[in-house]
Amino acid sequence: MKIFVNFDSDNKDIRSIAVENGIIRRFNINPELYSNCETINLNRCFLSPGFIDIHTHFLHSALELDGTDLKKVENIDDIIAIMRTEGKNKGYGYDDGLWKIKPNRYALDVISKTEPIFIVRADRHSIIVNSYALGLLKIPENLKNKYTENGIFQDKSLIWINKKIFETYTESDRQRAFETAEKLAFKNGITTVHALEGGDGWGMEDPEFMLKKEKEGASESILGIILYPQTVNINWVKERGLKRIGGCILLDGSIGGSTAALSEPYCDDPSNNGKLYFSDKALFSLVKRAHLAELQMSFHAIGDRAVEQISRIYNEILTKYPNENSRHRIEHCELLSQKSLNLIYKNKIYLSVQPIFEYLWGDELYKVRLGNRKTNVYKTMLEKGIVLGGGSDFNVTDMNPILGIHAAVNRLDSDQKLTKKEAFDLFTANAAKFSFGENKIGTLKEGSYADFAVLSSNPYKCPDEKIKNLTIQATYKKGILKYSNY
Ligand SMILES: [Zn+2]
Ligand SMILES: [Zn+2]
Repeated sequence: MKIFVNFDSDNKDIRSIAVENGIIRRFNINPELYSNCETINLNRCFLSPGFIDIHTHFLHSALELDGTDLKKVENIDDIIAIMRTEGKNKGYGYDDGLWKIKPNRYALDVISKTEPIFIVRADRHSIIVNSYALGLLKIPENLKNKYTENGIFQDKSLIWINKKIFETYTESDRQRAFETAEKLAFKNGITTVHALEGGDGWGMEDPEFMLKKEKEGASESILGIILYPQTVNINWVKERGLKRIGGCILLDGSIGGSTAALSEPYCDDPSNNGKLYFSDKALFSLVKRAHLAELQMSFHAIGDRAVEQISRIYNEILTKYPNENSRHRIEHCELLSQKSLNLIYKNKIYLSVQPIFEYLWGDELYKVRLGNRKTNVYKTMLEKGIVLGGGSDFNVTDMNPILGIHAAVNRLDSDQKLTKKEAFDLFTANAAKFSFGENKIGTLKEGSYADFAVLSSNPYKCPDEKIKNLTIQATYKKGILKYSNY
């Protein structure tokens, strides 16, 4: 048995925690009476339940960490300079939403004319390759268009090219990448992630690998994994005894890419209101089959028109085949109508949100695209009684729940500002419910795993605008130290 002592938490009644075999056994035992047990002194730091990031593309993002990081580039010249310096042929994370000149294959030819080069946009809705790579690729006739001629792959051609890239990774590449990303998660206080993996654009090697990790995680003290295979193949999922399906199965695109399906046109492009990627008929059929197969499911819907489509279809299916506790979910849900809000509440649909999106893009990009339309109305959702959980969409953004909490509390739109407790719950207690895990993770209670994130100081005693300065001092998974900054 181990006894954790000398910490702050959001429950003043807890003064010590006794942990045995990775489980919280008892509170407030006197360590002096158990002198043969290890006592862990947390030096007045703040002990939070381990964070849960309910939206990561864990493995394929980890594989991408091997490439050049383009998150901070500001124009094409920056891309060229950094890719030349690092000498890698893959770059990830550029965001050209507000750039006057967009990259194409000719820009990448400046990096190399004799080796394949490709870059992936931050929201993953575009991949661009250089002329050499374009020459090697045998693009099917039906995917060729004016964009692919310029080395730009979007929509269907994007799915095709991404799969080509992911087929080149081996099992040992995956193991190495997993370990790197697992360290990153622990460093940020995360003890469980939902891993949304594979699918049309990636193949099924990643979810196969993560399935092994999910099983390992059930018995060992590695990072907890909740796998969502991003496929529409229900047999694949059932054959492996999984309970979940979906993730970022795209019902529309993104606000940055002007491809999110909106009810009104984009402010900066009045001829465009985005598009829906599924017909009602196809989506209805998929949702019905998955629901009747008793799978918990999830879809990516960002624009209000896409959110409306999935809310309406969930409603039709759940009205016909009721299940009070399906916990079907919608990813992102950045814009939504009152009608959708009502349907989401009625059917107890869970919303998986990324507060960091609003923090990064709300003030500039979203204003350009959407004017003063309200986005990410978390307070409205919570007041309605909807369950919200938080995520990073790693590696669209970093796995960093502290920054997610900071973003949710420090909203510019003061109507939608969350309290600290509400924001913490997004990444702990509420997040646990998304995997039916509320008795095991997300809260400090007897019988739960001893998953802890130890913060440098008490967030409830620090000013809102300083939350992001809190650091993770230690992370424990099932009572075992996985990261230490002491
Ligand atoms: Zn998504
Ligand atoms: Zn995603």
